[in-house]
Amino acid sequence: MEERLSRRVRTIRPSATMSVDSKTKQLIAKGQPVINMSVGEPDFHTPVPAAFAGIRAITNGQTRYTEAAGMLALRKAIAHKLQAENGLHYAPEQIVVSNGAKHTLYNIFVTILDEGDEVILPAPYWTSYPEQIRVAGGKPVVIECGPETGFKLTPDQLAAAITPRTKAVLLNSPCNPTGSVYHEEELKALGEVLRQHDIYVVLDEIYERLVYGVKHVSLVAACPDLYDRSLVVNGFSKAFAMTGWRLGYVAAPLDLAKAMASFQSHSTGSPATMSQIAGETALAHFDPSVIDVFRRRRDALVAGLNSLEGVRCLVPEGAFYAFPDIRGVLGRRYEGQAIETSADYCELLLEHALVASVPGEAFGAPGYVRFSYAVRDEDVIEAVNRMREFHSKLTN
Ligand code: PMP
Ligand code: GLU
Repeated sequence: MEERLSRRVRTIRPSATMSVDSKTKQLIAKGQPVINMSVGEPDFHTPVPAAFAGIRAITNGQTRYTEAAGMLALRKAIAHKLQAENGLHYAPEQIVVSNGAKHTLYNIFVTILDEGDEVILPAPYWTSYPEQIRVAGGKPVVIECGPETGFKLTPDQLAAAITPRTKAVLLNSPCNPTGSVYHEEELKALGEVLRQHDIYVVLDEIYERLVYGVKHVSLVAACPDLYDRSLVVNGFSKAFAMTGWRLGYVAAPLDLAKAMASFQSHSTGSPATMSQIAGETALAHFDPSVIDVFRRRRDALVAGLNSLEGVRCLVPEGAFYAFPDIRGVLGRRYEGQAIETSADYCELLLEHALVASVPGEAFGAPGYVRFSYAVRDEDVIEAVNRMREFHSKLTN
């Protein structure tokens, strides 16, 4: 066999967020006191009632398959949540629950893309989108969105990117890695462009609850006439600290939801039953105090980053990431080793300052670095101190 791998997976590389995390965990296991600001994973606990609901499900024997699209009770609870919190009306049949929002997104791309279809992807973007789009046969069309627009796609950029091959545009608000949040008037302005074209809108709203002083609005709520072409993605990982339970979902037009449910019925079957039962309980137990905690850490981290020479960081309005521009240190050296890229910077920072971060290259934004502030307050302070020490040793 000349080529052992399919064309679709040949170029795929491991997820940078997950691989930096596993490298960091190995260092920690070896006794290195690394502060892990790499992976985006809340450091608080799954709500206790949800955890107990999951345990009870297991001991009560709720350990069998459910409907492939997820249990009706959970889909009803999600429909209720979307109505009550987002002002969106979806029937339970329009909701498909999967093994994490990552899985949901993959289902979406497989369902809407044919070979060569283009997906407009504003950069900086979450690292898994382009890989998933490619594996599903699509072509990511990356549009650079810089700090001058708060890393957000403008209507003019959107209009210029649309071609006859455009099948979808992806909007992630609040955004991983930038923390940007699209405001209602910005969504309405994008909606004006979208309504002139027959394309899908994939809305990744997994960080919706983690906003600081601004309001999360779904594009579908801002532009209700775009309902028939919108797919609203959400999950339990971030708001409920349930990353390991693997639970996410999409709300979509009925034909798409049915197709995704059919695909899922062949690919993975139903998501874990005990996770679904825990998730249903979690929906009623969001702890709003985490917002103040994250906001406090954000403020400390961003102020600390901006105090470092060569580093500039916008104040993110949502999620739990800071995404500073570190181009001011490129070309400098640490103990003789050149820092040519943000990947070099992250490697040296990990090795010498024991702070783990993810290079902007993984998010389509070289020259930037992502720090997750879903770590203890004292770790945020200590990380900034370590970085200050690291920066003080940079030479030309
Ligand atoms: N979308 C974004 C923007 C994310 O940051 C993540 C984080 N993992 C996901 C989707 C997927 O989350 P999960 O699969 O844990 O639900
Ligand atoms: N989404 C998180 C991150 O970006 C978790 C890891 C992953 O799923 O990629 O770090």
